[in-house]
Amino acid sequence: MTDQPTTAVAEHELPETPGAYDLVFDGFAGGRFDGRYDLLGFGTSHRAGHTHPTERPAPRGGRKCLACRWTEVRIMAPLDDGPDRYVVHTAGRSEVTGEKTLHRILETDSAAEVVVILGGSSGLSRPLPQTALDALAQAAECDEPLERAYDLLIAVQ
Ligand SMILES: [Zn+2]
Repeated sequence: MTDQPTTAVAEHELPETPGAYDLVFDGFAGGRFDGRYDLLGFGTSHRAGHTHPTERPAPRGGRKCLACRWTEVRIMAPLDDGPDRYVVHTAGRSEVTGEKTLHRILETDSAAEVVVILGGSSGLSRPLPQTALDALAQAAECDEPLERAYDLLIAVQ
């Protein structure tokens, strides 16, 4: 750790299209981005239209509104750390005033573990959420170990 101040990356600046990005970003739930990363795959459950009158946000626990609260998944490769290293970033985003986005940033050197991380608390006992599957499918197009893991997953689901 250094005492140097880090440049915060605003949430709206987190990348959504494949490519290389410099990121310095702390996850609330541990983990952080610090360096240059290749975005391999991105998935989001965000939808443009609200499912309720927009004078107020959708209540928590009520009918889901994916314009108010949604999930983003990023699969990235740290470019400073050598090959076959992955970062999985999961964000519970919210546009509702007063609510914080929850970030989870986990690193692994195993493509298979990327899939397990994407499964979240239910692991692989249930099919991957569509948002995670979208990110993995995109990442599988440009990364061979992830492609093998994706093919295996599709074969068993
Ligand atoms: Zn809404």
